[in-house]
Amino acid sequence: MVDEAYRVVVGLEVHVELKTRTKLFCRCVNAFGSAPNTQTCPVCLGLPGVLPVLNRNAVYLAVKAGMALHCTIRSVSKFDRKQYFYPDLPKAYQISQYDLPFAEWGFVPIADGAEVKRIRIRRVHMEEDAGKLNHIGQNLKEAEGSLVDLNRAGVPLIEIVSEPDMGSAEEARRYLTELRTILSYLDVSDLRMEEGSMRCDANVSLKPRGYQGSLEDLPRVEVKNVNSIRNVGRAIEYEIERQAARLSQGERIIKETRGFDDGRGRTYSQRSKEEANDYRYFPEPDLPPLVLDESWLTEVQASLPLLPEAWRERLRDLGLASQDVEVLVQDRVQVAFLSETLSFTDDVRAVSSWMLSDMLRLLNERGLGFDQSPVSPKDLVDLLGFIADGKISGRMAKEVLDKMFESGESAAVWVKRLGMAQITDDSLLRGQVAEVLAEHGKVVADYRAGKERAFGFLVGQMMKRTQGQASPEVVNRLLKEALEFDAQ
Ligand SMILES: [Zn+2]
Repeated sequence: MVDEAYRVVVGLEVHVELKTRTKLFCRCVNAFGSAPNTQTCPVCLGLPGVLPVLNRNAVYLAVKAGMALHCTIRSVSKFDRKQYFYPDLPKAYQISQYDLPFAEWGFVPIADGAEVKRIRIRRVHMEEDAGKLNHIGQNLKEAEGSLVDLNRAGVPLIEIVSEPDMGSAEEARRYLTELRTILSYLDVSDLRMEEGSMRCDANVSLKPRGYQGSLEDLPRVEVKNVNSIRNVGRAIEYEIERQAARLSQGERIIKETRGFDDGRGRTYSQRSKEEANDYRYFPEPDLPPLVLDESWLTEVQASLPLLPEAWRERLRDLGLASQDVEVLVQDRVQVAFLSETLSFTDDVRAVSSWMLSDMLRLLNERGLGFDQSPVSPKDLVDLLGFIADGKISGRMAKEVLDKMFESGESAAVWVKRLGMAQITDDSLLRGQVAEVLAEHGKVVADYRAGKERAFGFLVGQMMKRTQGQASPEVVNRLLKEALEFDAQ
């Protein structure tokens, strides 16, 4: 555990690749997994004499993201050249946004017990991605050589920079999870951390008790490119322990960049940051300032979907338990499915309970999401209607749902085909109740002697006799009546 003498200070920088058809400044296809260097042209290869042309759709997706993060969108922003030398950067500069990012001052709400804490967003800017180096060998140090793949060079990115508002690894995990959920609702990115379409750098420092200086001046360690939300949490936990141990031994924390070794669960030093990088930013002369029209911004704002926070509120208002709400809201296709059922039914509890149990099981077995479900929202509501009307029992409904999944046919078709009609008529069941009680005299005696479990056995016998078609409610009632009557 960290000594109370320090407060943990974490800020995150998240890069998100935008899901455009083409790259940010050229018409090359933006897709993951193609053969190396097949998606390149003179613009993204950085050949002389070419000019970048800004991708309109990338701006649209970026602005959507900025708005969903509650940022102020600048009507005039600009692009700058960030200069550095690295083999994956053919122009030897990256087109980014420096002093005038398109979005600033937003926040992501995260749950903090019953309270909601706002993690502030300092800025969101647009930039182009670099290419990728594939090292031949186990790792960079032992590599025989490195191959450059420029398919990714020029892919549109947004970088989301938080304020150092997170006080633990857990808060960082929550922030990232919520950020990813929000962006998934907007459908602006694939958000696959393992494929690099969402990447996270964590800045971790410890603030000594009584420290009066600014957080910016604390020696900060940046852990680069961690490939999953879970690992971001692990890397931060490790860093907190490591830095606390150093401080408690009277050593100082070195400002540096560290990597994360997934297998060993440790961070390791990559390079010292004592001498600040000078990127020699200057305005990109080949691109005009980005001017966003007021009426266009209003249109984009109006096109935003209902976001996770609003969905949580709506579902809680409809009477769903918080745990179910949380599970549902995590996945935008689940919410879309549920949302569609609400145009056919008010019984959101029944829908969510079936969605999160049997529907989810059947979908998982087939490796499908709710957006690929063979049973549509309307189909599910129809099935639940048969239960609500007392025509079939919950147990029968499970069987019908299985069949619906296999065949894609409606509940009505299968209820009829399986000859399912729940027996709810007292007169049809009374005779059988009498027979069951007569056959199981000992069990009846047990029940009367106070053995509650004996009752369950009798219900089971009734269900067996009726091949599960008797209404459990009616059977319960008739059995109770008969047992009490005979006892008198
Ligand atoms: Zn290109």
